[in-house]
This record gives sequence, structure tokens and C-alpha cells, in this order.
Amino acid sequence: MSDINSQTVALIGGGPAALFLIKHITAKKIKPRKIIIFEQNSHLGMGMPYGVSGAGKEHVANISANEIPELITDLEDFLSKNEQSGFGDYYTTGKINRDQVVPRLVLGKYLENQFGILIKMAKSQNIEVLTLVNTKVIDIQSNPDQSYTVIAGGDKKYGADVVILTTGHQWTKSFEGKHKGWFDSPYPPSKFVETTNFPVAVKGASLTAVDIIKTLSRLNGRFSGSKDNQLEYTLNDDAQDFRIHLYSLSGLLPALRFHSEDEAFSTEWKMSLKEIYDYKKTHGGFVDLDYVFDINFKKVIEKKDPELYLEIKDLTIEEFVEKMMKLRKELDSFQLFKAEYTEAEKSIKRHQSITWKEALTSFSYAMNYPAKHFSAEDMLRLTKTLMPLISIIIAALPQSSYREIIALYDAEVISLSNVDAGSVVEPHEEEGAIYRFKNNDGKKKELIYKMYVDATGQRAMNYNDLPFESLKKEGAVASGYLSFKNAENAVELIKDGNEMIMKGDHDHFYLKVKGLSINDNFQALDSYGKVRENLYIMSVAYIGGLNPDYSGLDFCDTAAEIITDSLKKDWAM
Ligand SMILES: Cc1cc2nc3c(=O)[nH]c(=O)nc-3n(C[C@H](O)[C@H](O)[C@H](O)COP(=O)(O)OP(=O)(O)OC[C@H]3O[C@@H](n4cnc5c(N)ncnc54)[C@H](O)[C@@H]3O)c2cc1C
Repeated sequence: MSDINSQTVALIGGGPAALFLIKHITAKKIKPRKIIIFEQNSHLGMGMPYGVSGAGKEHVANISANEIPELITDLEDFLSKNEQSGFGDYYTTGKINRDQVVPRLVLGKYLENQFGILIKMAKSQNIEVLTLVNTKVIDIQSNPDQSYTVIAGGDKKYGADVVILTTGHQWTKSFEGKHKGWFDSPYPPSKFVETTNFPVAVKGASLTAVDIIKTLSRLNGRFSGSKDNQLEYTLNDDAQDFRIHLYSLSGLLPALRFHSEDEAFSTEWKMSLKEIYDYKKTHGGFVDLDYVFDINFKKVIEKKDPELYLEIKDLTIEEFVEKMMKLRKELDSFQLFKAEYTEAEKSIKRHQSITWKEALTSFSYAMNYPAKHFSAEDMLRLTKTLMPLISIIIAALPQSSYREIIALYDAEVISLSNVDAGSVVEPHEEEGAIYRFKNNDGKKKELIYKMYVDATGQRAMNYNDLPFESLKKEGAVASGYLSFKNAENAVELIKDGNEMIMKGDHDHFYLKVKGLSINDNFQALDSYGKVRENLYIMSVAYIGGLNPDYSGLDFCDTAAEIITDSLKKDWAM
């Protein structure tokens, strides 16, 4: 392979993932000859959640100024020089509360500004940077000499030696736009403009649901402050029948933000590649989920909360999850939500972490890297058992959002029901949707709504969803998969109707996971399982199968660093 200094690197998508790539490329002085950044929208750095395609003024990030991965300028400095109007609650005259969550549109402006600074830094290192905004990439072709042709902005062609897919979130539409009252996601929030003087069904009860709750509650009423930091919600005169009916599988609301003792996520928490490969050598070619849970969760608890450690040290993952979920399930979800608020407030006021929640969050971050080396059996255990608990805990709902939800609850505007896995939502013949589900008592229910919003969040995209047809036609990318440890387990699952299992040679069985196949450096594996050294996949919608906790600015930062190190290593002469 020739030297990176003579190469052109194409970034397909100019959101936070691309921003952190430029950060590491400039910091590590990789110096490719040229970088081309393709962004379909008009702004760089904001990506989907921090610009108008994913946020309104009411939407907040789940991180504070203190938790933004390091960039060039501090957020507070940026705000002192770049007044952002309309965010009076967050800051006045450039001063911010560094522990308060950042409004997403403010974060977007900041990320855009940092992108500009980093591009200047790259140019000062003699890297030619071509930024193409309002330029959608429609295809990527591989050439006989292993380089790529990126087709963008209509039918213009751009040559690249290395392609990094940073296309981020992708939202597919089923009936939205074709069927009145049906919305496949809450984004962009600007599509909701009218009063909805009737009950609205919302599928999901986590952060995506909170986004639509914030948007609709403002269209139909107003929040006002009362004493003790509490809010009151009053419906508008023309929206007296507005209600939000949340539906979720767990019937649980997301856990709240608490004080975290660790400054930021650290790459030292995860197993190094050497540790991963050494472990595999002596453990049948796999990294065991139980081992990762032990070192990245139980050992942390042992150090930080010896009392709790005694309670959980002998529990299996399944038993631990059952213990933690039991209490949650015994209480009414809003009562539990109130109790957790008190616990989280104490944690913040006393600057004391809630150890098990913090440890589970760090486990979730750390297990991404060995996860590609799990057996299919362990990946199934992880997604079935641990991920439902992790997804509730890592949500880190801001206290301000909690106060709004409780005000809606006290005003009897919001409710949450849990539904069975077999529940279905279908378009109703006139408008909106019919929700068919079984409730807690096993009774069948069928409810008709004038409006329905799917707020289950980013769905994992599959091979067929990838919009770059040539990459698929040429076999440059493939679906993600994991091997079974024991063929008998696969055969049992096939008997039970699991369609994600494939049989290879010599009675070897594989589990097809969501998204595309990538290696430890985020390089694509082609249809023969061979590494495509110059094609990296960092698009969040396509890597969740092998990186279960794939999203977040901290993930963008570490994944970008891994890719940059690989560029440095694999492209050295
Ligand atoms: C609603 C929402 C809120 C979130 N809030 C937080 C939060 O508070 N804190 C946190 O840490 N994480 C949050 N996340 C997680 C999020 O994944 C990351 O913060 C971050 O946005 C990921 O950046 P990205 O660049 O990978 O993807 P994106 O932000 O989706 O950016 C991808 C970019 O690629 C562009 N693009 C896509 N396809 C093409 C194409 N074909 N041609 C050209 N350009 C293209 C898009 O226009 C976009 O600008 C949130 C996610 C969502 C969905």
C-alpha cells in the first residue's frame, strides 16, 4: 500500500463522526494529501440530532458542557463569543452551568464552529480539504486499482483512495407522508405544527419518546414554574382533550442522569486488542461475555461498593438483571420515576455516584470492542438479557425533562402502558392507527388513534438498506455475523424458528446480526470475509449488530481515534 500522504480520504457524511475523525487526523498528524467531506445538509458538524433535522429549541442533549469529548475550544468560550438567542434558561451573557445539559441546537452550533476550526488546522498541516455541503452521496463504486469513485451532488464523480462511511442515523418511512396521522419518527420536529386535541399514541418510552413529548406538549399547552423547582402543565383552551399514551415493552421510563465520578469515557476501560486475542487463544476462539461482565462490571463494583459486591458477586448475568428489574417491575412506573429522581438529585447534590448505574454504563461502553469476538450464544444472551436493562440505565434522562414529564403526569395528560412482544400497530382505514396488544392481565386490547408516532429510536439497518448500491453489487460489504460455539445450540434455535441462523461448511453455524460486517478497526469485511483495508464503516445505523452500544459523542470520539490509528498503521510505507 502506498503512503497515506499521497492519498485522498473521503468522509461520507459531515456530522459529529466526521468532526471527530478530523480531530484525530490533525492531532496525530496523519496528513493525507486530501480530505473530501460530503454533507447532504447545509451545515457541517451538527449531524442529525443537533440541527433542525433532529431538534427544536425544546430539545436537550443528555450531556453537559463537562461531558463533551475534548475539542479545540471550550463550549463556554464559544458561547461568550457567539451569542445564541432563545436559550435564556441555559445561559445568560455567555455564562453556563457546566453540569447542566446542553440544548441540542446550541451544541450543534458549537460542533459546527469546531468543525471549521479543525478544517483550518488540517489546512495548516498542508492537507487539502474540500468541503461539499448540500451534496448527497448517491453511490460509491470500487475501481480495478482498489480506489473508489464517489458519486455525489447529482452525477459528479470524485476519486478517493480511502472511504469512511460516516452517514450516521437513517430513518426509514413506512406510511408517513402517505397516511394521515402516521409518523415513523419524531424527526424533524418542525413537521409537527398543529394542535392535536385528542389522544396521541406513542410507541416507545425512552429518549426518542421524550423528544416527541416535548414537541407535542408545547403545541397543546404550556409549562409554568412553581415553587420547589416543580413545573405545572396547563392545556390550551383548544386542546383540552390532548393526551399522550406511551406504549413500551418494559413499561418503564428511562433512568435519570446522576452524578458521575469518572470524568469521561476512557479508552483504557476496554480490553486491548492484545488482551482480546490472547484471551481467545485459550478460550476456544471467543471472548466470553461473562468474563467481560466480570472485569468491566463486577470488579468495578468490588472496588467502589464492596457491600453491593457481596450481594452480586455470585450472580449470573441473568440473575443480576432479574434482581435489578424485579424492583423496577414491582413499582408503578411513574412512582419509580419519582423515587429515582430523588435518588439522582441526592447523587448530584452530594457529588456521589450511583455506583451500579455508573459501572453498568462503563461496562456498556467497554463491551463494544470485545463484542465482535463473542460467540453467537453470548450475543443472543447480551441482546435478550442485559441490553434491555442497559438501554434504560444509559438513557441518562435530564432532570429538566423529568420535571416536564411529571408535570404532564400530574395534569393527567400522560400515561404509560406496557404491551406484549406480539403487539402490532397498523394504519387505521381513515387516519391514524389501530394499536393491538395484550395488557398486563393478558387481556386483548384494540385502540384507535387519530395520530401515531413511532418513537422507538434508531432501528438497526441491514445490508439491504445501504443506499450505496455498487458497494453491495461488487461484494465490498457484507452482513454482520458471529459463529456459534456449539452447533447443537444453533440447531435448537433453528427448530424454534430463528431465521437469522445460517449453516456453513462442516456443520459450522452462524448468527446473522444487524448491520454490516466490520473488524476491530471498523474496516469493512467483504462478501468473502476478507478485510477491505480502505473502506471504513462508522455509520451508527449499520454497526449496532457488532457494536451494541454504538452511539453518542463519546463513541464517535473513540471510534474515530481507532480509525485514525488504523490509517496511520495500515497506510504507512
Ligand atoms: C435524536 C437523537 C439525540 C441524540 N442525543 C445525543 C446526546 O444528547 N448525546 C450524545 O452523546 N449522543 C446523542 N445521540 C447519539 C448520536 O448518535 C451521536 O451523538 C452523533 O449524532 C452521531 O454522529 P454521526 O456523525 O455518526 O451521525 P449523524 O449525527 O446522523 O450525522 C451523519 C451526517 O451524515 C450526513 N449524511 C448521511 N447520509 C449522507 C449522504 N448520502 N451524503 C452526504 N451526507 C450524508 C447527514 O446529513 C448527517 O449530517 C443522539 C441521537 C439521536 C438520534
